[in-house]
Amino acid sequence: MRVAVLHAPRDVRVEDRPRPTVEAPTDAVVRLAATCVCGSDLWPYRGVEAVDGPSPMGHEYAGVVEEVGSEVTTVRPGDFVVGSFSASDNTCDICRVGYQTHCVDRQPGAATGAQAEYTRVPLADGTLVTTPGMPDDDLVPSLLAASDVLGTGWFGAVAAEVGPGKTVAVVGDGAVGLLGVLAARRLGAERVIAMSRHEPRQRLAREFGATDVVTERGDEGVARIRDMTDGLGAHSVIEAVGTQESMMQAIRATRAGGHVGYVGVSHDVSLPGEELFFSGVHLHGGPAPVRRFLPELIELITNREIDPGRVFDLELPLDQAAEGYAAMDERRAIKTLLRL
Ligand SMILES: [Zn+2]
Repeated sequence: MRVAVLHAPRDVRVEDRPRPTVEAPTDAVVRLAATCVCGSDLWPYRGVEAVDGPSPMGHEYAGVVEEVGSEVTTVRPGDFVVGSFSASDNTCDICRVGYQTHCVDRQPGAATGAQAEYTRVPLADGTLVTTPGMPDDDLVPSLLAASDVLGTGWFGAVAAEVGPGKTVAVVGDGAVGLLGVLAARRLGAERVIAMSRHEPRQRLAREFGATDVVTERGDEGVARIRDMTDGLGAHSVIEAVGTQESMMQAIRATRAGGHVGYVGVSHDVSLPGEELFFSGVHLHGGPAPVRRFLPELIELITNREIDPGRVFDLELPLDQAAEGYAAMDERRAIKTLLRL
């Protein structure tokens, strides 16, 4: 099969590798309907995270089950399924309270990479969720988005305790931040402030339900959010970047008693204890338990109530994965869909 492999920073090659097969009795092999590049793939691509030898890339997937192990009972060959980047048993005490990314049995959800024609999914019964019947082709991008960026933006909004009557600010205008806007709106927020200085992303944020756009960042961005909220700060802030600046921007833009939902993968962030102590702000986040939200998100997508697939603004064949990475790295694209 064809698979995108990262050899070194900025060196993505699409290569032939053996098609994955069932290895454990709880595995499934999925034939992907489409695949994509994630903002988090840019960390190793840029050399910020070490690349440990040639690495098959990708962790977002939706497609048709090809083969299942002898112990798999909930999905059958021919089912259309969506999974997440984290495989989980969905039965342990941690999973049962909705924290499947911290499952006692957790392992990578797409063990053999997902920028590929096929992937092997461990713990298939706990990890995969079937769609009602075979989805129309035009729903595939949205179902693929559910696998990570939508589920992650959704968790950011839930972790930030978004709800009716609240003012929500979103730090980060990548796919996760934009889908955090969509989630905040769906969860009833009264006002959703997208923080973005990039016009096409501002437009998509408004289409997803942002009521306001703030172009300033850092302390100036914080001052703008406070100006818009009677000097108090937002009730809920979704942090979808993962840097020191974005995390402090999120904390400082939140009112006392409010909540930050942080879902940008943290890179060298260090929090000042004294400032946190006196902020009165709740912090919650981490790797999103996408599995918790998949049944609801699949239903919203297949009922055509939400269209998160609009975050894909570049579509290329899998063989041009390198260009898909470069376009996202240079911010020419929000998110790249790779056709199979
Ligand atoms: Zn578990």
